[in-house]
Amino acid sequence: MQKLFLATLLALLPSASILSAAPPEPASAQDLAELVLELQEKALADSTALELVRSLTAEVGPRFAGTPGDRAAVEWALAAMKRLGLENVRAEPVTIPRWIRGEESGRIVSPHPQDMVLLALGGSVGTPAEGITAEVVGFETLEAIEGLPEGALEGKIAFINQTMERARDGSGYGQTVRSRSRGPSAAARKGAVALLIRSVATGTDRFAHTGATRYEEGVPRIPAAALAIPDANVLATQLAAGSPVTFHLFLGSRRLGDGLSANVIGEIPGREEPDEIVLLGAHLDSWDVGQGAHDDATGVATVMAAARLIGILPRAPRRTVRVVLFAHEEFGLSGAKAYAERYVESLDRHQLATESDFGAGRIWRFATRIHPLDLPAIEALTPLLEPLGIEWFENTGRGGADLRPSREQGVPVADLTPDGTYYFDYHHTENDTFDKVVPEDLAQNVAAMTSLAWFAAEMSESLRRVPAEAKPEERP
Ligand code: ZN
Ligand code: ZN
Repeated sequence: MQKLFLATLLALLPSASILSAAPPEPASAQDLAELVLELQEKALADSTALELVRSLTAEVGPRFAGTPGDRAAVEWALAAMKRLGLENVRAEPVTIPRWIRGEESGRIVSPHPQDMVLLALGGSVGTPAEGITAEVVGFETLEAIEGLPEGALEGKIAFINQTMERARDGSGYGQTVRSRSRGPSAAARKGAVALLIRSVATGTDRFAHTGATRYEEGVPRIPAAALAIPDANVLATQLAAGSPVTFHLFLGSRRLGDGLSANVIGEIPGREEPDEIVLLGAHLDSWDVGQGAHDDATGVATVMAAARLIGILPRAPRRTVRVVLFAHEEFGLSGAKAYAERYVESLDRHQLATESDFGAGRIWRFATRIHPLDLPAIEALTPLLEPLGIEWFENTGRGGADLRPSREQGVPVADLTPDGTYYFDYHHTENDTFDKVVPEDLAQNVAAMTSLAWFAAEMSESLRRVPAEAKPEERP
């Protein structure tokens, strides 16, 4: 039926472009459809996003919150937004906790000595200066540690060797990331002196994958690191042979005092309802390793390129399209919380929010979390996304980690889901670099983002607030 709807719309289209002649108001469904399809064509041929990713990864590089790279990224984003023609460009200060990695190393001491490739988990405390040398006890899951009696790991290094399943929707991540986020406190409760995990990752490259961990209050804070997949396999093999395995771990990581970062914001002001906001989000920070290409330079580039394409139309959209590059997503969502606090009075005028933060694989699925009564209003978008190979999913979207504080206050959200099959091969590693970005896939991301943004900004209905929900699972 949706295909039929699109075919009918296309049959009605005049042959001349409406980009050159503003249609009478309000825009009809036919005008909407034609303009969306024209925007998609332009986006697929546009290299703005690719150039932005290249520039951010090459000229700024890693931009972990609170570092000189982060400050350079804020300056980069302000300049790039102005150059692309966005208006009301500004940096809004965000206070952030800081952490540094320092030197780090690990090796199997016995029975068969071998150096290990590892990265401290984000937020991990360091080891004493002489490091920690202890026997390793291996587990398949976090739950296996949680089921141990008190004191079972006294003086030991715990090792969680949980394998992550490769999946297009990234669902394997949610099942394994607990070993990273909760593992250190779970192991410390049983007396462990340190924790090693198999990187929360797919692929077999010899790169360790970092990511944030969280210490529980009242539990000793122990050092924690992720091993590259091949190194986790080596450790598991030595453990399986049955002799005691001794490991030496040194982490120079530590927390610093609070620092300052910024959310960077730019807009295409609306022509009729400038106070109603369509929010296109991504996060400007990255981990301290690699270039943060897929996480999240591609997201930054996608939302900026989409806003530019809308901004150069002869007529502004009805509502304001606002690009928000959030600070400090990776290590605490400080920018997301600051945004929801600063704009608390106007969140009820946020028409729709979306975030690009799952790499730049081809978008294959579209989901929303909007008021059920508004589903018919957004339905007309579905056939317009079909030419890009995107199918409707359902009304259980999440909108991205940075949108959580806004979503919890009823802001409607949408997800354009990229193919995540290979995302976790590079995620949070030295290997997340520009050469992993596929230009055609990135352009398809921009086409999808532009379509969604323009449709939401132009549609005649203002979307209702979304009723409170049970807390859905998050993708950090
Ligand atoms: Zn991210
Ligand atoms: Zn990340």
